[in-house]
Amino acid sequence: MSQTKTTIPYKRRVSTTQSYLDFLVNSSNDAITGTNLERKITAWNPAAEKLYGYKAQEIMGKSIDIIVPEYKNEEVDTLFKRLAKGTPVYNYETERMRKDGNIISVSITLSPIKNAENKIIGFSTITRDISEHYEMEKKLRLFKEAVEAANDGLQIVSLDGKIIFSNKSVQKIYGFSPDELKGKPVGLLNKDLRVADKVIVPALKKYGSWSGEIEVHRKNGSIFPVWLTASVIKHNNKPIAFVGSIRDITEKRNQEKLKTDFLSMAAHELRTPLTTLKLISDAHIRKYKKFGKDQIKISELDLINVELNRLNLIINDLLDDSRIETGKLHMRFETIDINLLIRRVIRKMKIINKRHRINFRRGISTPVVADPNRIEQVIVNLITNAAKYSPIFSTITIEVEKIKDTVRISVKDEGEGIPLEKQQLIFDRFYQVKENSGKGFGLGLYISREIVKNHKGKMWVESKNKKGSVFYFTLRAA
Ligand code: ADP
Repeated sequence: MSQTKTTIPYKRRVSTTQSYLDFLVNSSNDAITGTNLERKITAWNPAAEKLYGYKAQEIMGKSIDIIVPEYKNEEVDTLFKRLAKGTPVYNYETERMRKDGNIISVSITLSPIKNAENKIIGFSTITRDISEHYEMEKKLRLFKEAVEAANDGLQIVSLDGKIIFSNKSVQKIYGFSPDELKGKPVGLLNKDLRVADKVIVPALKKYGSWSGEIEVHRKNGSIFPVWLTASVIKHNNKPIAFVGSIRDITEKRNQEKLKTDFLSMAAHELRTPLTTLKLISDAHIRKYKKFGKDQIKISELDLINVELNRLNLIINDLLDDSRIETGKLHMRFETIDINLLIRRVIRKMKIINKRHRINFRRGISTPVVADPNRIEQVIVNLITNAAKYSPIFSTITIEVEKIKDTVRISVKDEGEGIPLEKQQLIFDRFYQVKENSGKGFGLGLYISREIVKNHKGKMWVESKNKKGSVFYFTLRAA
């Protein structure tokens, strides 16, 4: 076989290889650029023109910095130092700047270019535009974070009813971790096992969405209500899965119950004195018609007064309660003598209540900063409670003591006392140790404690079951 026939002369061989390489470079979809050691651009293929917006003739010989955003300068220095040592850089994700100033996300592969003597004379860069891919990834990440951050539980369920994904709120609501739920039939979480198959899935198939209240199980076995909004996820108009958004509505239900209980309690409380008033006034009208006005006794009018006072107190409590709820319980502070105030209150209480002995142990005369009407309300409430919850003819003792820079007022009774575990609860709104005792509706202590809090004071109780209670509150000495 003759060698000379097949061997291509060196010069032609080089130029053939060269034009082949040129062809590859020019037809590549990736931007291919060359840079010399002075960072001047020495090669710029058509894909680079398309990517960066610069024509080869306008950018050749210019510094590569032209396509590097300022905040990436340092990064380029580091990369070039690495290259100068002969180490290539593969698929490095960074950002570059187009001619129109837009920043694009790119993946670059940098390699040193060596001459025949194996000396580095520049660098080649293959750049791939990953903006779209990057944007997509960013969007996906954002999506995932938004789904995880959602306050509502979100679940994706396969068409055959198996849980594919649950966000963190699902864990908070149900107590199951997303992994514990994965692959499980979603219907198992419902209290009524038929509701998914019989109601939700048929509605989803027919209308594409369903929303309503259902009862579900927590991991700890308790059952609670949720509001579920479910819909079908479609791809190319074909159902591929279901998505459900779950909101725990326990609190809402409790609030609604509280409101209903409150209204029926208020109505009940208001009806009692009103019924009495109606009976008394009917009797008066009858007497007046039969015997004339001389037969009307002052003691009976007193009875009307007592009932009207009771009505007044109930309505004031209701108003104060709504003022506290809306943050509108205003105080009018002044410097007062607490001993005088208590003496005045006791005088009034003795007129109304003749069935208890009320003792007063006054303290040293100390002025306090307080709203006299509100503090009177607190003392009246404590004395009224002491009377309500203790036997008739027992003693109620009110005491004032100065302790450092506060004045402590106490109201002691000889009544039924309050069990230890209930002593904190009695200050809660509507709380009563014995529900529906017919002796009030659990607002007095709540309002009193709020008033004392508004005076920067404290209120508490010390009590032994069946051995009476002592209610304390403090005020700042002036
Ligand atoms: P009300 O007396 O209208 O029910 P309060 O808020 O004044 O409401 O009191 C809440 C509950 O605390 C009462 O229902 C009662 O069970 C208990 N309580 C309050 N004061 C006393 C007291 N001096 N002795 C025993 N129990 C009391």
